[in-house]
Amino acid sequence: MSPSRDLPKNYDFAEVEGRWQGIWRDEDHFFDPGSEKPPFVIDTPPPYPTGSFHIGNAFNWCYIDFIARYKRMNGYNVMFPQGWDCHGLPTEVKVEEIHGITKNDVPRDEFRRMCRELTIGNIEKMRKTLRRMGFSVDWSHEYITMLPAYYRKTQLSFLRMLNSGYIYQSEHPVNFCTRCETAIAFAEVSYEDRETVLNFFDFDGVEIATTRPELLAGCVAVAVHPEDERYGHLKGRRLKVPLFCHEVPVITDEVVDPGFGSGAVMICTFGDKQDVHWWKQHSLDLRKAIDKSGRMTAIAGKYAGMKPDECRKAIIADMAAGKILKRTEPLQQRVGTCWRCKTPIEILSERQWFVKIVPEEIMAAAKEISWNPRHMFLRMENWVEQMEWDWCISRQRIFATPIPVWFCAKCGDMILPAEAELPVDPTSEKPCVPCPSCGSDEIIGEEDVLDTWMDSSISVLNVTGWDGSGVPDIFPAQIRPQGHDIIRTWAFYTILRSVALTGTRPWDEILINGMVLGEDGFKMSKSRGNIISPEEIVEKYGADSLRQWAAAGASTGSDIMFNWNDVVSASRFQTKLWNISRFILLQLERKEFDPEAQYTALADRWLMARLSVSVDEVTDAINHYQFDRALKSLREFAWDVLADNYIELVKGRLYSDEPGRDGACRALTAALDTLCRMMAPYAPHFSEECYSFLGRGSVHNTSWPAPVGRDLGSLEEGELLVKLVAELRRYKHENGMALNAPMGKISVFSPRPMDDSGDMARTLNAEVSWRSGAAKLEKVCTGVQFNMGVIGPLFRKDAKAFMDAITSLPAELQENPPESVMVSGAEVKIPEDSFSLQYSYMVEGEKVDLITVGDIIVTIRKTS
Ligand SMILES: [Zn+2]
Ligand SMILES: [Zn+2]
Repeated sequence: MSPSRDLPKNYDFAEVEGRWQGIWRDEDHFFDPGSEKPPFVIDTPPPYPTGSFHIGNAFNWCYIDFIARYKRMNGYNVMFPQGWDCHGLPTEVKVEEIHGITKNDVPRDEFRRMCRELTIGNIEKMRKTLRRMGFSVDWSHEYITMLPAYYRKTQLSFLRMLNSGYIYQSEHPVNFCTRCETAIAFAEVSYEDRETVLNFFDFDGVEIATTRPELLAGCVAVAVHPEDERYGHLKGRRLKVPLFCHEVPVITDEVVDPGFGSGAVMICTFGDKQDVHWWKQHSLDLRKAIDKSGRMTAIAGKYAGMKPDECRKAIIADMAAGKILKRTEPLQQRVGTCWRCKTPIEILSERQWFVKIVPEEIMAAAKEISWNPRHMFLRMENWVEQMEWDWCISRQRIFATPIPVWFCAKCGDMILPAEAELPVDPTSEKPCVPCPSCGSDEIIGEEDVLDTWMDSSISVLNVTGWDGSGVPDIFPAQIRPQGHDIIRTWAFYTILRSVALTGTRPWDEILINGMVLGEDGFKMSKSRGNIISPEEIVEKYGADSLRQWAAAGASTGSDIMFNWNDVVSASRFQTKLWNISRFILLQLERKEFDPEAQYTALADRWLMARLSVSVDEVTDAINHYQFDRALKSLREFAWDVLADNYIELVKGRLYSDEPGRDGACRALTAALDTLCRMMAPYAPHFSEECYSFLGRGSVHNTSWPAPVGRDLGSLEEGELLVKLVAELRRYKHENGMALNAPMGKISVFSPRPMDDSGDMARTLNAEVSWRSGAAKLEKVCTGVQFNMGVIGPLFRKDAKAFMDAITSLPAELQENPPESVMVSGAEVKIPEDSFSLQYSYMVEGEKVDLITVGDIIVTIRKTS
């Protein structure tokens, strides 16, 4: 075997990673639809194309790539698609910024074109990072949600769900961001604690407390607890709303807390979710006080046109002037805000499109899925259990999938496109036929667009080839990898849509990863200045080091703190492994060996048995998605077993030209080959480079290693041999001997003598003889060692006399000292710990040093 290239002394990650990325072909990672192999389809997350693939993405993709590569090596036909979830507000905002416009300054089509252009450029930038990280993406399954090929399917899925009754439109209270001017789903509401003011005021003779007096115009009832005696007289009465003068009924409801404020509350449409409950339950009027742009409506009278904040101040001032306001108190409150812009959300009743949520269906499918880690299932369960409203899927934006619906201007009927006509944009296209109900051709296109999650929640249907003509053969997918931050959204919506469209779960398994925190332990953010980009890490230490950080830094599902030390130690490990590989490869090259040689030497058999243990451990760990445990086991094998122990043990044999050399060469080849294969999912470039010198093709085309045999006997004996050699090396070190210095004669007295094929003797540069049975040792006392720390302070000037007295005791008395001795004519007590005896051992009349390892005794007779 002679490698085609010279083995460089140092591992140059930048050169190696760049070179292999140039050699690998995309086709090698394509899913093969005609393959006989079992499919393994990964429903990868489509990132939002911001233009930078951030470290959280990189972390997530590392897990995906470990799995994809591992599964390919295990004989699966793997699909690792790459999607891009394009639509949404952030891009609209960016386009407005770049072009210095607002979305209404240009025609819808033109605005969309600008958004698409920006997105395409951003995708290209992110593709570069994906390639630079060495991810084995199946580029033949790339999808871009803003392109017709994809959003045709989004529209098709919409029509199917509309026809099957899962989608409906209705005027219903929804969460609304008045800054973004769009409805949003519950999953998009984030909560913040704020301090607000509770205002107590006179409501037609009843004291009422409210934090939102600006909603007074939208007041539709006053509610009290049915058993609250203070208000018994109000039952059945109507009260006049202060400042606005319309009358509202007094209702009773168990939910009213008599202890909060005055115990009487006003119900407005809508102050919060509770108002919506009451409004529905008691069939109250609807009074819209705030419009979609966040201004007070006409019913607010003189306050119309004001923003809610201004209106609140004005009303409080008017109440104070009219002596209606009694007092105020500060109040801590949780406020729902828009997840994107942090504006407090309003609950507005508008005509919107909804997806019906059937919790039992979703939970039944969720239970069929294997959740990793297991406890993440609870997050889904809790979310589904607290679900009260259907999913509002319509948005009042532009850059999104159009809702494929028209309305007849004359009769109001809904007109749907034929499935074959999709995709359509109803704002710029007309249906092929006039209104089927009344024949009118005065048609209005729906301007609302779909929530972005309507695109991404069919990612798995898209990659498995769903086109509406039945459930695809390779559906459900095998796995969904994603972050725990989008369980309530992406995972939830995908399960919902999959059940609605196919009647079954979307995947067999879901693998949840944690979030990446900055070095300071906080979420990475611009304002904290703790953002680290994957490019920066790759630049300094290479993609393979970053990938190992992702594997080693945390257990699956846990958040991971970014840490340069972990990257540096990954890089050091590579240097070490490169040195090991280089040593092995140079040895193999030095002289021909028999690749079929028997593993006769104990060390060789031990290495093979130990390697099998590692293969078992690593395989089991990856099967359980414990990437940190797998990598730890790999590193232990490479570093401790192979480098520190085995190679040290067989170096002598390797340099000799004895027949035993062949077994060591074969064992080293097997170890290097297996290590490269097990490292391949983690460090694809490094493994490919090392493996290439073995002349066996690409490591990525090999199969995952199987254990070569579980030879427990060799494992145990080998461990003992390794321990003995380690002890003797330490002895050398402690005695100031160079490690290669001759050590004299070593006898190993063991109940079970081993045949180590001379490895120990060569390693220690000693004459080694293995003896069975016990050593015939003679213990000789060679002197007395005094403890001056005890003797000095106690005897002072008599110390010497004390020591002389001890030294002159006969040997048996030194061994079993009397209570006291005579010192300078006086009897003194022998203090505890004042001296100890020194022994040496003799074997067959010669002085030896002694080491014990378990029940084994080793004697060392130094050459003089
Ligand atoms: Zn907003
Ligand atoms: Zn009509």
